Amino acid sequence: MYYINVSIHDVTPAFEEEIKHLVKACESLGISTGTLLVIPNFHNKCRVDKYGRFVNWLKQQSQNGWELAMHGFTHAEDIVKPKNIFEYFISNFYTNREGEFYLLSEEEAKNRITDGIELLKKSGLHVNGFVAPAWLLSDGAKKALYDFQFKYTTTLRGIHDLEKKKFYKVPVITFSSRSAVRAVVSCAFAKLMSLLVSKKPALRLALHPLDARNVDLMQVLKRICKRELSYRQSVTLDKMVNILRNL
Ligand SMILES: [Zn+2]
Repeated sequence: MYYINVSIHDVTPAFEEEIKHLVKACESLGISTGTLLVIPNFHNKCRVDKYGRFVNWLKQQSQNGWELAMHGFTHAEDIVKPKNIFEYFISNFYTNREGEFYLLSEEEAKNRITDGIELLKKSGLHVNGFVAPAWLLSDGAKKALYDFQFKYTTTLRGIHDLEKKKFYKVPVITFSSRSAVRAVVSCAFAKLMSLLVSKKPALRLALHPLDARNVDLMQVLKRICKRELSYRQSVTLDKMVNILRNL
């Protein structure tokens, strides 16, 4: 059997319209289960617990088959001086300074995760896993995750099973819609990836709010989903971890 997890990143009331559009688009393609990556306090300006209507919508989605995971705390990288040119490049070009957990110490990471869990708990939201913004985790942040009840975390390369302390390599198809050029290039890359990963038992598809605003990208996404769903079953990350444990 082959599986796919669709994760919608950057779930916050600040992107309510785009997130709902993506969930609807997924459901119209037959994807009724996946993972919503919730940011507890987007850019320190949008606390999820202050938006009752959005919280109720999230609870409804989790009853309908969408699992919730925590996606950073603010999703914004603080001004930490990068140690080298590589870190500078990752912070400024790869993530547009959104790699919140990329340069954090273990203690700083612990504090942010604790604050995030508290806000989610206040809202009555339960999360199974933690996914760092842009999948970037410092060594300290990686260690910090083991102090919490998360079942998994994911990176660009795959899924870390935090309970079994195992790593599963699982490819991910994603788009970059920050500019028109990036969107065109990433659509071509996504189509190619979809062909290259056809023999892999598990695949991830990561969507972002800005994807919903690009009509051409949404068409490519629909074609990719139709192809993948012709032989893959959509699952939550939680379920994907259970499957990977037994492969
Ligand atoms: Zn994100």
